[in-house]
Amino acid sequence: MAKRDILVIPDKRLRLKSEPVLAIDAEIRALVDDMFETMYDAPGIGLAAIQIGVPKRVVTMDLARKDEPKAPQVFINPEVTWASDETSTYEEGCLSIPEYYEEVTRPKAVRVRYLDLDGKEQEIAAEGLLATCLQHEIDHTNGILFIDHISRLKREMVLKKFTKAAKRGEPVRPRAANDVPEHHIG
Ligand SMILES: [Zn+2]
Repeated sequence: MAKRDILVIPDKRLRLKSEPVLAIDAEIRALVDDMFETMYDAPGIGLAAIQIGVPKRVVTMDLARKDEPKAPQVFINPEVTWASDETSTYEEGCLSIPEYYEEVTRPKAVRVRYLDLDGKEQEIAAEGLLATCLQHEIDHTNGILFIDHISRLKREMVLKKFTKAAKRGEPVRPRAANDVPEHHIG
């Protein structure tokens, strides 16, 4: 296992549409291991493969609180098959947009179809934090960031801040993201 660097905006790779996984082989298992190591170290509760520069439709997640045992989850080729009309609003964050949090409104409940690590097709019904996290990470596999769901003015302010920091060669680094466990940081 190896911890990988997390891409930060305005890295253009974050805008790539990831490719489906065709076979769950040793390479994919190694990728998943690296993603968990990177995600737990960050720390974050969700990670998409493109965030470590791999344009494959793989998502890792662990929504367990700090005082609970680890609960790793892997979603391969996840796709939303149903979304509720009812919405909910969560303050989201993203490991690729460190130290920025904003409220995002999304469908409150979703159904998601995916492959597990054994290549078996699964479908889950999700609501609350799991629904938000799944939608945030599936967005990543399609090159979409949570700031695409906020106002244009706010989005442009964030992009400007990160573009300036990148030009100065001073990447914005996450502080103690686990101070805000109720937020989605993925
Ligand atoms: Zn994210």
